[in-house]
Amino acid sequence: MDTKAEVKFYQNLVKGKLVPSFSEKTMESINPATGRAWASIPLCNENDVQYSVKAAKDAFPSWSSLAARERGNYLRRVGDLITEHAEELAQLETMDNGWVIRETIYGLIPSLVDIWYDAAGAAAMDGGQGKTVQMGKDTVGYTLREPYGVVLGILPWNAPLFTFTIKAAYALAGGNTIIIKPSEHAAVSSLRYGELLSSILPPGVVNVISGLGSEIGDALVSHEDINKVSLTGSGVTAQAITRASAHQPKPLTFELGGKSPNIVFEDANLDKAIETITSYSLFTGSSGQICAAGSRILIQRSILDEVLERLKEKMANPQTVILGNTLSLESTMGPISNLPQYQKVCSYIDLGLNEGGEIVYGGKRGEAVLSNKNSEYSDGYWIEPTLLLMNSNQHRVCQEEIFGPVGVIIPFDTEEEAVEIANDTDYGLASGVWTSDLGRAHRMIQNMEAGNVWVNTYNRVGTDLPFGGVKGSGYGTDSIIEYTREKSCVIDLG
Ligand code: NAD
Repeated sequence: MDTKAEVKFYQNLVKGKLVPSFSEKTMESINPATGRAWASIPLCNENDVQYSVKAAKDAFPSWSSLAARERGNYLRRVGDLITEHAEELAQLETMDNGWVIRETIYGLIPSLVDIWYDAAGAAAMDGGQGKTVQMGKDTVGYTLREPYGVVLGILPWNAPLFTFTIKAAYALAGGNTIIIKPSEHAAVSSLRYGELLSSILPPGVVNVISGLGSEIGDALVSHEDINKVSLTGSGVTAQAITRASAHQPKPLTFELGGKSPNIVFEDANLDKAIETITSYSLFTGSSGQICAAGSRILIQRSILDEVLERLKEKMANPQTVILGNTLSLESTMGPISNLPQYQKVCSYIDLGLNEGGEIVYGGKRGEAVLSNKNSEYSDGYWIEPTLLLMNSNQHRVCQEEIFGPVGVIIPFDTEEEAVEIANDTDYGLASGVWTSDLGRAHRMIQNMEAGNVWVNTYNRVGTDLPFGGVKGSGYGTDSIIEYTREKSCVIDLG
């Protein structure tokens, strides 16, 4: 795909058709690798909200009354279709949010297919089945799992296609219909994805409308025909959604941010730990723009000097960080996904230095960071992967989510201190523990206040296990259970 291509116009997907917004307003989408507009998306208003909710509501009776197995068949075909369009979708996502193509084509796309297939199976199993209880000689009880109705899925900019899929696949498997509202910073891949899905699914089952959260968020969330909301985004937006839905309580799922500790003990396999810390979990692939980023690196003081040296060595290796053309399979790391986020990450690096942090590696921004000086990418939102050594967990850079390729290193002496520092945060999404002591591994698992604990690995997610958070990282997890409610039924046989 040519990065200099003309701006392409994308439209909403409602009732199985591509439609412009009622407002007739549009917004430019910027490729963060070049800093230039490459696409245009609709900016919807309340009329689009009404139109899409009606479409999803109208589609609900026939979709929900299909046999669960038949819904599963649709979802399996969607999985096949994504494989057929893998290259196109990976390129759109890369242009949209800046994640390098090697990540979107080899990491993202297979995970989307996996989710659709898993949801297809779940439709036939968990979605269609409740439980049966013998309640005495003449009484039988059982439960039915039923869909909510119309689900609203609100997406962040960092992982549009993944969050679209994890919401839509399980919502549809459970018999719901859905409206997807992607982020205004990265809506293109979702608009095209919706169009592809509509070539298989009945009209209105999936609808995608783009626009500003501040303009259509409240109208969507508070709509009386929206029966459930699932947000992946920030805590501030979760609060706004809670307020907007207060008059008509509805189930909410919040997948929010994190400030996750990645804890390296002196008995750890350091080769593996360093490889992981410097890869997808914080730097390459995602540029640190993942909710579960291991952005607080806790290192036992007895190995601090050795680990810092090895981290520097690894980062300085020219093969580790290759920044530039995000559509080239050679590039290992992309830019920050949008300008406001770029400015935010830059200001956090400055803040860390003001708070007494010492740069272990990185800190540069802009064109200076590019692996090959190339004017095509000189206006992109580039930030060098950055490690800051901090003397306490109390600094703002250790407490607030930066959401970029910036890790803070915090030394500790004992296991108890590691636990205290790790849990001393408003968040609780994930944590990593590096140790060869089995007893310590189990103690740490029990002591971590987090929805996910990874031992001697990091960010191992998939359809096998739930992915949720505690504290400020939200609650609920996108699964078929989350998108169905249980009805209790009792029959007196006497
Ligand atoms: P954000 O909260 O700013 O925006 C998320 C979405 O909410 C966007 O589509 C936005 O338009 C919409 N929105 C904004 N105001 C709204 C309102 N009042 N009502 C309804 N919708 C509204 O978040 P972001 O900056 O797009 O995403 C980054 C955040 O997402 C980070 O905190 C990150 O950690 C989190 N995240 C979490 C997970 C997870 O699974 N836990 C995954 C990815 C990202």
